[in-house]
Amino acid sequence: MKNNKSKKIFLKVGKEKSLLRRHPWVFSGAISRTENSPTLGDTVNIFSAQGQFLAQAAYHPQAQIAARVWSWEQEASIDADFIHRRIAQAIAFRRQMGLTKLSTGMRIIHGESDGLPGLVVDQYDRVVVMQISSVGIERWRDACIGSLRNELDPICIYERSDTEVRTLESLPERCGVVFGDLPANIIIKEHSLMFQIDVSSGQKTGFYLDQRDNRASVGALAVDKDVLNCFCYSGGFTVYAKQAGARSVLSIDASQSALTLAMHNVVLNGFTTDENEWICADVFQALRKLRDQNRSFDLIILDPPKFAPTASFAEKAARGYKDINLLGFKLLRPGGILASYSCSSGISSDLFQKIVAGAALDAGVEARIIAYQSAAVDHPVLLNFPEGAYLKGLILKKRL
Ligand code: SAH
Repeated sequence: MKNNKSKKIFLKVGKEKSLLRRHPWVFSGAISRTENSPTLGDTVNIFSAQGQFLAQAAYHPQAQIAARVWSWEQEASIDADFIHRRIAQAIAFRRQMGLTKLSTGMRIIHGESDGLPGLVVDQYDRVVVMQISSVGIERWRDACIGSLRNELDPICIYERSDTEVRTLESLPERCGVVFGDLPANIIIKEHSLMFQIDVSSGQKTGFYLDQRDNRASVGALAVDKDVLNCFCYSGGFTVYAKQAGARSVLSIDASQSALTLAMHNVVLNGFTTDENEWICADVFQALRKLRDQNRSFDLIILDPPKFAPTASFAEKAARGYKDINLLGFKLLRPGGILASYSCSSGISSDLFQKIVAGAALDAGVEARIIAYQSAAVDHPVLLNFPEGAYLKGLILKKRL
């Protein structure tokens, strides 16, 4: 890669700063010129205006994020071996963290944070789900599949390359089995609980692995409590609350297929669905209805979808978070607990706390933070990549 034929991009004066701080993206506006005509998905060497080598990256001539860093060194080459080394390192890290003892479902590759921008890989028992959202990884798709087969010995690799981020990279949607056969039933064991996973039509790659620790710690607070689980998806928090001995659990989701899966997961763990309520509705409306019915709860979970995928959606998202948190505080009994989450990268943890504080104020409620939460260890965050810290949770106790 050190030869003169290597494809290069040069940055504008002063635009090298974020790369020197090891932030792994280069925005298109930072580039002054290219050399040796790099095209879509090519590996480029990035230089400052003064000619200092900064990083090796995958190039996208049209996208707003024009280069995603592969390496801070001038590697011999970015090739199948390089991809294999990165995948093997990511898997070794999960094993070192003892995750295999906690769950048979885990995130194996977490994009930038595992040195593979645009690649997400989740494992559900012996099924591996792969999601590609950048042109750089798209070029090494076969190498990824080969490495995952070698390292994980799966019975199936399923591709779920259907995120909206793919459209920003002008990549078409691609979903389906890429290796082996998809079993009819995929069940993981998380802590001591079982969850059925729908990898082909479920959300994300089928399950919200990032909430694993939070489900356990919030679930444990549900002993003898009346619980309201908003945006319940496949019933993660519901099942943990049932296991802890909740008096009742009301679960709400706008998707009927999510609720059906949630009920199935409750039964799968040996609980009955009788003492539980299920509402298929928009949470914004359902919470107003519950307020009008004078309902109240001891523990409320608000785990909405991404309201702000990027910072440009922050204002609209802030209104959404404020609305549900305000209603949540009102429905909470004195001394009750609100577990409030945001998975929007466009909303910082500071801003999230301000929004929730504003909601408490407007609801006329005094509350204390008893814990800050984030994504589980298989979703590490590069220290210089704040966009990676997308999941933020506040556990709040309402004053008696
Ligand atoms: N807490 C879950 C994950 C929640 S994901 C877990 O631990 O697994 C967000 C969920 O919100 C999805 O199931 C989606 O169907 C649902 N959803 C999105 N918008 C909604 C709305 N306006 N009202 C109700 N549910 C909604």
